[in-house]
Amino acid sequence: MSNRIPESVIEEIRNSNDIVDVVGEYVQLTKKSRNYFGLCPFHNEKTPSFSVSSDKQIFHCFGCGKGGNVLTFIREIEGVSFQEAIRILADKSGHQVPDQENSDREETDPKHQENQTLLEAHGWLTKLYHHLLRHTKEGKDGYEHLVERGLTDEVIDAFQLGFAPNSKEFTMKFLENKGFHPQTMVKGGLLSYREDGHYGDRFRGRVIFPIRNHQGKTVAFSGRSVNGGDPKYLNSPETDLFQKGKLLYNFDLARAEIRKQNEVVLFEGQMDVISAYQGGIKHGIATLGTALTEPQAKLIRRYVERVIVCYDADRAGQDASYKAATILKKVGCDVRVAQMKDGSDPDDYIRSYGSESFRKHVLEAAVTYTGFMINHLKQGFNLNNEGDRIQYIERVLDEISKISKPLERDHYLRELAGEYDLSLEVLEQEIINRRKKQGLDKDKNPETSYTNNYKETSRKKQKLLPAFHNAERQLIYYMLHDASVSYKVQEHIGGAFNLNEHQVIVTYLYAYYEEGYEANPGQFIEQLPDASLQSLVSEIAMLKLQPDLSDAEVNDYIRVISNKRSEQESISSLELEQKEAERQNDPVKAAQIAMRIIEMKKQLRSQ
Ligand SMILES: [Zn+2]
Repeated sequence: MSNRIPESVIEEIRNSNDIVDVVGEYVQLTKKSRNYFGLCPFHNEKTPSFSVSSDKQIFHCFGCGKGGNVLTFIREIEGVSFQEAIRILADKSGHQVPDQENSDREETDPKHQENQTLLEAHGWLTKLYHHLLRHTKEGKDGYEHLVERGLTDEVIDAFQLGFAPNSKEFTMKFLENKGFHPQTMVKGGLLSYREDGHYGDRFRGRVIFPIRNHQGKTVAFSGRSVNGGDPKYLNSPETDLFQKGKLLYNFDLARAEIRKQNEVVLFEGQMDVISAYQGGIKHGIATLGTALTEPQAKLIRRYVERVIVCYDADRAGQDASYKAATILKKVGCDVRVAQMKDGSDPDDYIRSYGSESFRKHVLEAAVTYTGFMINHLKQGFNLNNEGDRIQYIERVLDEISKISKPLERDHYLRELAGEYDLSLEVLEQEIINRRKKQGLDKDKNPETSYTNNYKETSRKKQKLLPAFHNAERQLIYYMLHDASVSYKVQEHIGGAFNLNEHQVIVTYLYAYYEEGYEANPGQFIEQLPDASLQSLVSEIAMLKLQPDLSDAEVNDYIRVISNKRSEQESISSLELEQKEAERQNDPVKAAQIAMRIIEMKKQLRSQ
């Protein structure tokens, strides 16, 4: 691990970023006894096996085996280097990391360099455009446009809204002065290459909406013309940094609020998000002019279960709601769909009726997924026609049969029976048939099953390990949590553990304590040279063992481990004797030795 950032700085940054808070920004965590649980962000799962320990400052997934401390987590989830992970955490805790020049592998990679350059240029332009809008007469048109739409200065600042003046070369000259190469800027959609062979400004006479990535850095712009220029909206092209199918608008600002509210509001447009934000609804996000994708839905699900889809009330908006709700449902979200009666969009609604009304009559009145589907499906049928009506009812029954809660199924069945004057018994029978076909006929309760599942699988896994293997793991657990246990083990058997990786871990652990550190699994993990060892240590540190260990128990562990070792050693020495006997042409002796070896191996296996 090459780090030129001083160890003391790393330690301080790590200590000031609580792992539960950091992980909690990415994963919805629920506290169970001492630890927190959530859906693992590193592999696909429906029941949580991802666990975070606040005391130990480590995480571990019992499903895929990934584990480590807060730095490991950031590296894995953001896909960044050690240095960048430090920087991300330093940003969160408000620390300064001394700048370092040159020679990181990434910094010499041209693609990475180009992305860094584009990020930098976007950063500068965000500031420039925002400054023009807020403080200069060049930006007055833009400012007035936003004020007319009812936005306050506070919100304009929060979203860094700006104005690109109607000039051919304003932005170009600015970027040139900063030393940016125009060709790269064209690639990133900040400048354009004109027919006359010159470079020029791409965004002209437009209000600028910066689009930030999930770390809060601007990666694209959306520009709205204020004086009727065409097109009405001009957006940045897709680049490495700006991938519409992966990014969610305002996710960086909304993240903390989403966790707090345990809910997210999904809008269609950026203006909806901004209007809602101004009205105090700060857990809103939006797609970027494209339909919701499965990766976006999965990202949402990692944070939160309940999603309110709040799209435009027109036909296109409702069709888009149907698609989004289906994808969200598929990845396991609890989906609600908000409905606005009078064909408006959320931004209009808030401007006309205020945010309180929006909260109460739109968000809180959002219908369940099934409720929405029952209504939405009507559109495809002429319900006055008997054939159509039966087809429609069949489709609704399909939807109802997918509901896991019997009480909820009953609610919709009664509604359906009432509305179309049908026999409830017949409908119930239809549901039973459908659920049988889909293998859903037994009601399960996923909430209560997952913890048991998890306990069972981990218990099973431990049972499968040989006794000495478990003894080593358990002893390392105590060594990780108590330096005095480690000293004692070091004195008696040193590094003589049976498993290679255990030998490596205890060697690092002895060195760690010798340097004067106190027991702290999260900090110790930092000293380990590779990810697989970090995962193993986090797994061991998460074992559920009695807190205290008597001297006699330490001795027991040591005995099991060294017995195994001496047996192993005596088998190896017998094998040598056997070879020697064969070499000396003494088959009887060789056979006798072979019998003893088989006997010993059998005994070892039964332990
Ligand atoms: Zn996992």
